Amino acid sequence: MYNSKSLKAEEFISDEEIRDTLAYADANKDNVELIDWIIEKARERKGLNHREASVLLACEIPEKLEEIYELAQQIKKDFYGNRIVLFAPLYLSNYCVNGCVYCPYHMKNKHIARKKLTQEEIVKEVTALQDMGHKRLAIEAGEDPVNNPIEYILECIQTIYSIKHKNGAIRRVNVNIAATTVENYRKLKEAGIGTYILFQETYHKKSYEQLHPTGPKHDYAYHTEAMDRAMEGGIDDVGLGVLFGLEMYRYEFAGLLMHAEHLEAVHGVGPHTISVPRLKRADDIDPDTFDNGISDDIFAKICALIRISVPYTGMIISTRESQAVREKVLPLGVSQISGASRTSVGGYAEPEPEYENSEQFDVSDTRTLDEVVNWLMKMDYIPSFCTACYREGRTGDRFMALCKNMQILNCCHPNALMTLKEYLEDYASEETKKIGMALIERELQNIPNPKVKQIATEHIHDIAEGRRDFRF
Ligand code: SF4
Ligand code: SF4
Repeated sequence: MYNSKSLKAEEFISDEEIRDTLAYADANKDNVELIDWIIEKARERKGLNHREASVLLACEIPEKLEEIYELAQQIKKDFYGNRIVLFAPLYLSNYCVNGCVYCPYHMKNKHIARKKLTQEEIVKEVTALQDMGHKRLAIEAGEDPVNNPIEYILECIQTIYSIKHKNGAIRRVNVNIAATTVENYRKLKEAGIGTYILFQETYHKKSYEQLHPTGPKHDYAYHTEAMDRAMEGGIDDVGLGVLFGLEMYRYEFAGLLMHAEHLEAVHGVGPHTISVPRLKRADDIDPDTFDNGISDDIFAKICALIRISVPYTGMIISTRESQAVREKVLPLGVSQISGASRTSVGGYAEPEPEYENSEQFDVSDTRTLDEVVNWLMKMDYIPSFCTACYREGRTGDRFMALCKNMQILNCCHPNALMTLKEYLEDYASEETKKIGMALIERELQNIPNPKVKQIATEHIHDIAEGRRDFRF
């Protein structure tokens, strides 16, 4: 029986409810009156539930799709302005005891290089990341209680935060590790992590069990209920995601929104971010062997619908996607992207030798961070290295309050400009610096609150004089 407030995976992600939702969406995909009503509801910026959003996903009426895209762009502008937050993944270890059939780190893969970074290697990797200009990392590790126990992850987080190289610093470490216990989540919280990210991969229980035939990840309920344990452990920023391509996308989309509704219903705060990875080629993985791949157009539609369904949730696109696809979906609601990523264990300090392939997937966007920053600014986006909220204690519902009160222009916007200024001073090429300085001048004028505008202008000047780390 479907119950969004239940703490049982099979009740808050009810298969029956998803099937009913898909049937309802099919029956109403040409119901213009209902579709208009749903779009009007989305215009109020209060989001849509999984049933309403699924009707729009099924709808193929060109004029209605146009309206949806326009609304997604408008909501993106109202809530996130033209800022795009940048981050990089850092793979700590690819030892893994699970058997996920879509990931080259699965235990049976004997020819991939297995690596685990030592603390000395982490210092080198993080120094290299700081030298690019990164301030925000997402750490990744396979599940292996012997090689990657929680103590190892905690030690790595401590090392990362402790490295202060030139003007560099990693100010926010998000963590993407396997589902774990409340006690371990509490330890992660105490270690000062930003968001805890865990992709569901698929919400379809039967497929989930087939795709994860061995290892602790096989347990669908334990995996699906992980965010509840994380929140119980005190982590209030959690990041959801599915791996599009494993199962029917409409099923996943409904499941994803039901998960968001569940977190809101039980914990009073929805997901902090949603990631939308698509299955990619990797060492012994051929995406063509999975028959649920989605086109770029469907992918864009999903991004637009996530934007209008959960307006307060950040949306993340990684370098799995090409520059062209990223350009297509940025205006539709994406708020965070990775840049200059390496998906191997190590590889930032020194490129990994070809014979030592430890990549989790092939990167489609291989540009440097300077090229990504330059590209964003030429499209009139503000690249942001902001990490202020978590450091100011604005997490969970306090962060949501900031969004809901539309205070983002007086907060995120100046923070973006100040962190961009730091990047330009410390790491940018001459050309990027020139474009960036002009952009900062222009964008300072768009801060509505005169006092905030004045303080931000002063801080921008201070940064040029060598001072760092200002935030609202
Ligand atoms: S997806 Fe994660 S858990 Fe599965 S094999 Fe890869 S690293 Fe291990
Ligand atoms: S102020 Fe907070 S919400 Fe805004 S960009 Fe910075 S960290 Fe994100």
